[in-house]
Amino acid sequence: MALDAHPTRFRVAICGGGISGLCLAVALSKFADIDVQVYEAAQRFKEIGAGVMIWSRTWRILELMGLADDFSKIAHAPPDGSPGVGFDYRKSDQPEEGYRFHLVEFPYGCIRFHRAQFLDAFVNHLPEGIAHFGRRLLSYTSHEDGQSIEMTFADGSLEYCDVLIGCDGIKSMVRKQMLERKDADGLPGLRRFVEPVWSGITAYRGLISSSAFSKDSNGHLHSATQRPMMYCGHSKHVVAYSIAQGDLVNVITFHTELEKERSPFKGEWVTQCSCKELLDCYDKWEPEVVDLLQNIENPTKWALHYIDPLPFYVDGCVALVGDAAHGMLPHQGAGAGQAIEDAFLLAQVLGYEGVTKESLPEALRAYESVRLPIANEVLRGSRDSGMMYEFNSEFGQDFEQLGPAIQKQWDWIWESSPEEDVQKAIDRLADGARSPLL
Ligand SMILES: Cc1cc2nc3c(=O)[nH]c(=O)nc-3n(C[C@H](O)[C@H](O)[C@H](O)COP(=O)(O)OP(=O)(O)OC[C@H]3O[C@@H](n4cnc5c(N)ncnc54)[C@H](O)[C@@H]3O)c2cc1C
Repeated sequence: MALDAHPTRFRVAICGGGISGLCLAVALSKFADIDVQVYEAAQRFKEIGAGVMIWSRTWRILELMGLADDFSKIAHAPPDGSPGVGFDYRKSDQPEEGYRFHLVEFPYGCIRFHRAQFLDAFVNHLPEGIAHFGRRLLSYTSHEDGQSIEMTFADGSLEYCDVLIGCDGIKSMVRKQMLERKDADGLPGLRRFVEPVWSGITAYRGLISSSAFSKDSNGHLHSATQRPMMYCGHSKHVVAYSIAQGDLVNVITFHTELEKERSPFKGEWVTQCSCKELLDCYDKWEPEVVDLLQNIENPTKWALHYIDPLPFYVDGCVALVGDAAHGMLPHQGAGAGQAIEDAFLLAQVLGYEGVTKESLPEALRAYESVRLPIANEVLRGSRDSGMMYEFNSEFGQDFEQLGPAIQKQWDWIWESSPEEDVQKAIDRLADGARSPLL
């Protein structure tokens, strides 16, 4: 070790280099005395060609991480805090022109990105030499002395760390092992949380070049090029919004078969499908929707899964973050945002000066105590929102009640700030300690 180098407080291994793993690695890299390594199963960091939206609290975190300028450049428009449309909700499942039944607006509105650009913005801030590709974690063993964790990879290699963070997505290997161990240790019933639940929802996704839309006879461009649209109908809905500085329109359509929820799903979760299959699904919807869907050239078809809310995210020196902890339905555009909230808060807690190798379990529990109730609530709320958009909630098509109920689903955005959440976690660690963020 060079004389001026910081002694290492502890070693963090991050399993998975998606949005949660990369955000955590970038946030932790601010602490010079924490060793961080990222182990990614794939040969490179990659995201699918589609959109991702975030809300004001996630934007606040990007500001706190010093990343706002970079993300501003790739947002649909630079976020400035002025009121913006969250979603424009329309009744659309009839051949005649539909109508707006609710408009959600709040500061920043919905901030939209191309996923590949979003991931790259984190990759660009990753310190050199900490990412390891082609390293699929198979298992981990916590050593009896509690001093280190041994990780075994599919290529036969072994690595060691003091704290292991599972950022390995909805099919998480880390979650599987954590739950199986706890179950074997006398907490029965946990194995039911291992496998993701099939939601009964088929989603179709595609991108459209904005130039594909021409103005209508009134001189208006397609609504989806102007603001985030939510076209609603019975057991189906369609989401469309512009990304990539307005060059592209991202479309996701949903078809829910509630009777299939929790039944076994066989086959690949993501497949190619024909344009006809997609169009047939929304046959007899309003012209604005049909016009949108006709422009999708290569749709993909997704079987959407979620995990049941976990009773814990942490075991000893191992923790779950992002979809590994709370893989959710996308009806609040919140999975990536919740992953970033986990990653940011966990990094502040681990980086807190009082945390040592010995107090790592306590630090992880402080993370869990703040993040688990919030993220699990968003997970539950995401499913409920989908029921509302598809007229399957208690409000049916009573739009006077449905509109405000949908609006209320977004309350979690304002219930606390990311800084306050970090402070709560730090409070748990040390009475009266101030978070460096406040
Ligand atoms: C249709 C749809 C639309 C969505 N839209 C939005 C949206 O608009 N806004 C939003 O906030 N969220 C949205 N989400 C959710 C969001 O995409 C996810 O919550 C987010 O990508 C999760 O990131 P993650 O890093 O936790 O997991 P992942 O992105 O799944 O990353 C996991 C990584 O771990 C790696 N890995 C897996 N297993 C191993 C292993 N054993 N060893 C090593 N590496 C491993 C994988 O290769 C991958 O790189 C949407 C989801 C869907 C399905």
